[in-house]
Amino acid sequence: MNWETVIGLEVHAELSTKTKIFCGCSTYFHVEPNTHVCPTCSGMPGALPKLNRTVAEYAMRLGIALNCEITRLSKFDRKSYFYPDLPNAYQISQFYTPVCRNGYLEIETEGGKKKIGIREIHMEEDAGKLVHDPKSGNTYMDFNRCGIPLLEIVSLPDFNGSAEVIAYLEKLRETLLYLDICDCKMQEGSIRADINLSVRLPGGELGVRTETKNMNSFKAIARAIEYERERQIEILEDGGEIIQQTRRWDDDKGISYGMRSKEDAHDYRYFPNPDLLPLYIDDGWLANVKENLPELAYQKRERYIRDLGISESSAVVLTVHRNISGLFETLSQNSGKPLEAANLITGEIMRLMNNSNMLPEDLSIDAEKLSALIGLVSGGKINRASYKETVEAVFTDNVDPEKYIAEKGLLMQSDDRAITEAVNSVVEQNMDSVAEYRAGKEKVFGFLMGQVMKKLGKGGNPDIVKEILTRSIK
Ligand code: ADP
Ligand code: MG
Ligand code: ZN
Repeated sequence: MNWETVIGLEVHAELSTKTKIFCGCSTYFHVEPNTHVCPTCSGMPGALPKLNRTVAEYAMRLGIALNCEITRLSKFDRKSYFYPDLPNAYQISQFYTPVCRNGYLEIETEGGKKKIGIREIHMEEDAGKLVHDPKSGNTYMDFNRCGIPLLEIVSLPDFNGSAEVIAYLEKLRETLLYLDICDCKMQEGSIRADINLSVRLPGGELGVRTETKNMNSFKAIARAIEYERERQIEILEDGGEIIQQTRRWDDDKGISYGMRSKEDAHDYRYFPNPDLLPLYIDDGWLANVKENLPELAYQKRERYIRDLGISESSAVVLTVHRNISGLFETLSQNSGKPLEAANLITGEIMRLMNNSNMLPEDLSIDAEKLSALIGLVSGGKINRASYKETVEAVFTDNVDPEKYIAEKGLLMQSDDRAITEAVNSVVEQNMDSVAEYRAGKEKVFGFLMGQVMKKLGKGGNPDIVKEILTRSIK
């Protein structure tokens, strides 16, 4: 039968604020367990939460970028459940009045553009982490992650397959990165997706869904979707029923298994958190966030193509990460040569990064030095080969380009006298070849040219050498 897949996504993005959502503890997490905790985020009785203003601002940024309505008066609710990594036995979240609603994100699909509805975006706190030690059989609790701010982005059930889901996640990731609100390191769990999936026959009612939780790799997500679709179809075609449940994906085995039957919202006893004041977003604040919204990746691509004459494929490469587009914009501004800057990054820099397995987010290179090099090559001071060589030296050893060029003798000798001297001496030493050339054997010219270039070192300016040599042996 012709089953249709229906998928809705809940994505959790960890925000890159300096401090947690309801206390002043640092969010930096490469530290010893339980060092970034205080009475509030470790759930001590009587400690009071206070909203971090930046979290609200980041939520507004994302809401605006995803075409949402911003809820002017929103509140926080308690979602009650017990888990050892949740010291309060409730999570502070937003249930009744999420801060953003009714938006969409447009993706590219095989069949053209498609709008995926965003039901809501809400703010909430992350839970801690349980660390299982297989040696001792003990489980340890690390509360550093308690109170890290999260945005949960809930889509409508608008996806019909894994390709659309991946396209959406990629676009969402790019948006979060360019808004500068999440580092999007998927391996570290900065974005995690829950996949709600059901199948139905065309035209039928929505089927019963399962939820596969906490997926943090695109590849695993695509595999988990295919697996769950097949599993449900098989059950239904055998005349069985799908049980609404939460499942966990095992990427090594390539299967998922049921964790627990899925609870409904009323099981959590959501109720307004009495410890926090409502959040009121006034016109001025909203307008200010709108005005200062960073330029998004797709807007940059359009601008590069339209205003700077960059090709579409280069524009895609230049916007893979804010680090890359930032470097590109600095280089083209400093040098006044956007095409040269684009070629440098899409060519040499990308090649060097690939060779050293460097991710775009880890690229750090001195833009001043690269701008100077662009100036030198386009001003005819060094040739293309020396340019490449020096770029590599800056990339790997952060050398001072001017010094490097001087030491290696890469500066092009455009000084007529030095070149004339080199030409004369080559001509004197190779009178036979000169005679052959004069007799019509034009190929010999290349040989003589090579001799002169050799004498001049890497810095010989081939155009001038050619000109002087031609004059001298005509
Ligand atoms: P919960 O409260 O369990 O998280 P929600 O109603 O908030 O459930 O929906 C969570 C996600 O599941 C949303 O992204 C929604 O689009 C998706 N969803 C809801 N019903 C279905 C369904 N029948 N099939 C696939 N996805 C669904
Ligand atoms: Mg949910
Ligand atoms: Zn704290």
